[in-house]
This record gives sequence, structure tokens and C-alpha cells, in this order.
Amino acid sequence: MGKATRPIKVGSCFVGGGHRPPVQTMWKESLRADRLQAAAAGVRSLSGLGCGILRFSAPDIGQAELLGALASMVDTPLVADVHFDWRIALRCLDFPIAKIRVNPGNLGEPWKLREVAAKAADKGVPIRIGVNAGSLPADLRDEPDRGAAIVAAAEREVAALDELGFRDVIVSMKASGVEETVRANRIFSERYDIPLHIGVTEAGPLAQGCVRSAVALYALLADGIGDTIRVSLSDSPENEVIAGVEIVALASGTRESADIVSCPRCGRASFDSHAFSERWRDRIYSIRRPVTVAVMGCVVNGPGESRHADIGISGAGDKVIVFRKGEIVRTCSPEEADTVFGEELSRL
Ligand code: SF4
Repeated sequence: MGKATRPIKVGSCFVGGGHRPPVQTMWKESLRADRLQAAAAGVRSLSGLGCGILRFSAPDIGQAELLGALASMVDTPLVADVHFDWRIALRCLDFPIAKIRVNPGNLGEPWKLREVAAKAADKGVPIRIGVNAGSLPADLRDEPDRGAAIVAAAEREVAALDELGFRDVIVSMKASGVEETVRANRIFSERYDIPLHIGVTEAGPLAQGCVRSAVALYALLADGIGDTIRVSLSDSPENEVIAGVEIVALASGTRESADIVSCPRCGRASFDSHAFSERWRDRIYSIRRPVTVAVMGCVVNGPGESRHADIGISGAGDKVIVFRKGEIVRTCSPEEADTVFGEELSRL
């Protein structure tokens, strides 16, 4: 999958070089020293859902040090997101950080970038250059071709690192619009073999953000463009990961984790498929095998979908039927449904 880009090692995973695009999300709060164990558990949980790379803001030295401590507690590659202050980037590089995101242009004098690049090279840590349409250099802001302007900004940043002989680079060019995001990445992909982190930034709340991201990222991935992805939502990192995993599965035509088939529910429902799907969402998506799980409200479509799934559950009058591999294996009351389903799921 993907155009030939140079492979970049990001902690324990690869970005580019034909590898399946790792799904990313971003931690949405500041780190706290007294909550690091909980943060580590949260990182592992996101990893279980399919998050391959996880990014954290490092707005000051204190956050850089907490991130560094967290990075040594988990296996997931953690990325430090640094703006403006090269000293924060240098401090992050004292820890097992998998990647650092900076924009060379906003670090200030060239010697600061030189110091960061030298230390990153010494530690074997790649740098992600992230260009956002909302913060283009002044001379590019009024360019009518927004996609081309984003590329021009990225090219400057790439050139700054290239002059230092630093080639362990990943580039992202994001906009809140689908068209300019797709256009920028297509132009860049024609010119460079640098791996691309693709995403629509500030894509919006859950439904809108998923739609925008899916349209843009599917189009790019289907063209072989994009080496790692993020769905940016005004919503939870869990939903960002689930959406990202789904987009990669659809665009690649191969699935590495569970697929949920669930009905929209209507007045016929005798079983609350919404609430059930929500309760079991993380557990099901944590199955790192391509199994299909059906959750259905009634007998209209429930038995049919459930029989085609690896495991299915369907309302049937005042009962609930559980299917496994096409066969009815249990019939129970709605109150017993979670227990029965959990037992059957563990037998998959
Ligand atoms: S399966 Fe039943 S409850 Fe679900 S949408 Fe169809 S008719 Fe409605």
C-alpha cells in the first residue's frame, strides 16, 4: 500500500516504505505527575484499539519531562509536539521519545534548529514537520491556491533540515478543508519520497469530523498517498483511533481488527443495540483480528446479520439470541445479555 516513500523508524514501528499506515491520535490533556500511572493505562488502552503512534503537546520543560517519564513506562511510540522553544525539543530528546514534531521556521535563529537536528540525529529520533493552513508564513497567506501554498511552506521547512543533512523526516500538511488537504498532499507526493502524515485538521465534532476525514484520507490512501494518519476530532482520542483504523481498513481493503455491524434501531427493536454497542465498543475494537460482530435490535434483520458474523446478538421478542459462526448458541433474557455475550466473545 502506498507510493514508494523512504521508511522512517518511529520507535517500534515504521512509517513509509510501504508499511501499513499507523493510526495516530493526540493526548488531549496536560500530563500530571500524580496521574502518570493513569496516563500510562490510557496509552495502553488506546494502543489496544489500534493507535500506533501517540502525540503529546510539550508546551514547557515540565511537560517535556513528564512526557519523557511516560515514554519509559509504555511501549507505544510517543511523539513530542514542540513549538517555538528549541530548549523544550532538546529536553524531550533526553528521553525515549519516538519522534519530535517541530516546525523549523518557528524555532527562531538557524543555530537553534541546528542544535535540535544534531541531537535528534544523535539519538536516532525522526522529526515531523507539521504545516497547518491556519499558520502559513505571511507571504503565503493570501495565495489563491491554498494547497500549493501549504506545499511551499512545507518545502521551506524540508529545505532547512535538508541543508543540515537531516533526512529522517516525516511531513504533514493539514487544512480544515478537504480539497486543499488532498491537493497539498498530492502535489507534495509527486515531488518527494518523504513519508506523509495525513489528516484534515480541526475537522470538527464527531460526525462532521469523521465524514471530512474519511473523504479526504480515503481519497489519498486510495491513490497510495499517506504513510500515517490522524482523524482530528472535537471528540475523544478513542473515537479518533477507531475512525482512523476504519479508514485504513477500507482504503487498504484489508482489516486487522474487529468490524462491528450494528443496526440503527427503530420502533421494532426489542433489544437496545445502541446501548449494547456502546458498552462493548472498546472491548470489541480491541480484538486485533478481522472478526465481525453483529449487534441487532430485532428479528427483521437480526438473525440474518448475526448468522453472517463471527459472533452476533439479536433481539427476538422478549428474548435475546446469541449466534456464533452462523449457529444459535444461546438464548437468554435482555438482562443476561452482557454476561452471555461476554462468555461467547471470549470463546471466539
Ligand atoms: S434490525 Fe430491527 S430494530 Fe434494527 S433497524 Fe432493523 S427493524 Fe429496526
